Amino acid sequence: MQGGGERWGCARCHDPDPEQAWRWLSARTQPRQPLIQESHFMVSVTICIDCGQRFVRVFSEQIDWHGGDDPQHTEIVPARPDELTALTPGVSERTVVELLQRLCADGRPRLVRDWPSSGSIHTAWTTGHLWLPRHD
Ligand SMILES: [Zn+2]
Repeated sequence: MQGGGERWGCARCHDPDPEQAWRWLSARTQPRQPLIQESHFMVSVTICIDCGQRFVRVFSEQIDWHGGDDPQHTEIVPARPDELTALTPGVSERTVVELLQRLCADGRPRLVRDWPSSGSIHTAWTTGHLWLPRHD
């Protein structure tokens, strides 16, 4: 089975409570070498230490010309190993974004965390179209 019908991860890395899942995915995963590491755009693959589920983690930060903290956006998308073969060090941002958009089109759940320049952090499970904010 694929996509929305597929089972992803375990009760920890896919905790229905998005804050709990975020905490687990931020602390209890094995970080791999970042594939892209720029000051405002980072891509890495992480693995849940409990179940071995792989995730693509994308961090982007917008430059807020109005001052204050820059808005930050993180997407954590589960993926099977065979879906990640294109993600080698030096991969282009465009390849990463297109791959993730293709993966998300099948309706798999992903964790999204928004940290706006003003207001509170919002973390949620979501599905469907993946959109990344413009970054520097
Ligand atoms: Zn897991």
